[in-house]
Amino acid sequence: MFRKNIPVAKPNITFSSVAKLMRAILKKEVSGYSKQYLPQFEAQIAKYVGTKNAVLVNSGTSAIHLALIGIGIKAGDKVAVSSYTNMATFFPILQLGAIPIPVDIESRTWNMDPSDLEKVISQGLKAIVVVHIFGHPANMIEIMKLADQYRVPVIEDCAEALGATHYSQKVGGIGVVGCHSFYANKMITTGEGGALTTNNDDIARRARDFKSLSFGIERKFIHSADGYNFRMTNLQAAVGVGQLKNIDRTIRHKRNIAKFYTELLRTDDRIQLPVELDNNFSVVWMYHIRIKNSNFMKRDQIINDMASAGIEVREGFASYTLQEKVLKLWGQENVRSTPLAELISEQCLYLPSGPKISKTKMRYVVKSLQNSLNRIAES
Ligand SMILES: *Cc1c(COP(=O)(O)O)cnc(C)c1O
Repeated sequence: MFRKNIPVAKPNITFSSVAKLMRAILKKEVSGYSKQYLPQFEAQIAKYVGTKNAVLVNSGTSAIHLALIGIGIKAGDKVAVSSYTNMATFFPILQLGAIPIPVDIESRTWNMDPSDLEKVISQGLKAIVVVHIFGHPANMIEIMKLADQYRVPVIEDCAEALGATHYSQKVGGIGVVGCHSFYANKMITTGEGGALTTNNDDIARRARDFKSLSFGIERKFIHSADGYNFRMTNLQAAVGVGQLKNIDRTIRHKRNIAKFYTELLRTDDRIQLPVELDNNFSVVWMYHIRIKNSNFMKRDQIINDMASAGIEVREGFASYTLQEKVLKLWGQENVRSTPLAELISEQCLYLPSGPKISKTKMRYVVKSLQNSLNRIAES
């Protein structure tokens, strides 16, 4: 029976990926230097996002790291970042010795709030990192307006949003550089993997250089910088080519799942549901909800209740401003507070959103959630 096991998401890997992966292995084309599938996958990502360049890497986190290096972020530089995100958005900033400035989120999409960005924009920012959280584009029109006015480059973290559009433009090609993740549960997967997309040749060149140990041009082993090994393998690219073929179907699935959950939950005023604002196309990476009157403890209870019903429900991210390490590092009084991001950190859950989930299972998920909420209200 399905009741025993509804995972939060499972990748949908088609035969096309399997066949290409076999071909790569049989030809012994395994490394990050192979020309078998890597150039093809790279070109396809660039074409799909609509940028001149794409640079494949081994993770979304690496992509963010290289994007920061690409625009020249150094120790001591201030970088504004949407406070509510996977901490993978923040860690590369800290690792480069730069100073993250958390920016609060909007109440409907949980993306960076341009009016809060406006409060910090004149503090000498060297970059802005925008996240398209849960697959809904951030308010790029307003953010780019501010960024252009103050000449601050914008990095888009598109890890959850490949295929989403904002005023008909794909995310990842709106700011100066886009960062993508191909982790197992993202819109497409190569197991682990990622990419940068950019129209800026200089950023692409620097990313290529640093992703592969910054080998020297004249003499290979006289390196031009202390580079990384962030290369994607040909095996991953083989899977990726097959995955990208299927992305329209994946997006359709995700949007249908969202539509049906919303139909079932629309009248339940204890829960805030995901939205799609005008002029945006959301890929609804995960069906994320907010339990309005909950807190960390109540949410744990819901997660446990659902687990005993055989349903995997995940807590949403915890904001930058709630990370104990961060507060210790800078001193709590020195970290800008972002109250809405903190509230969502306590109240967000996401429901099973895998490509294979049936309507029967979604009804069961919603019923189990509502049973849990009723139980908590009575206790
Ligand atoms: C998944 C994710 C990342 C990191 O991607 P990895 O490929 O796991 O390194 C970064 N930002 C956001 C918003 C993500 O969801």
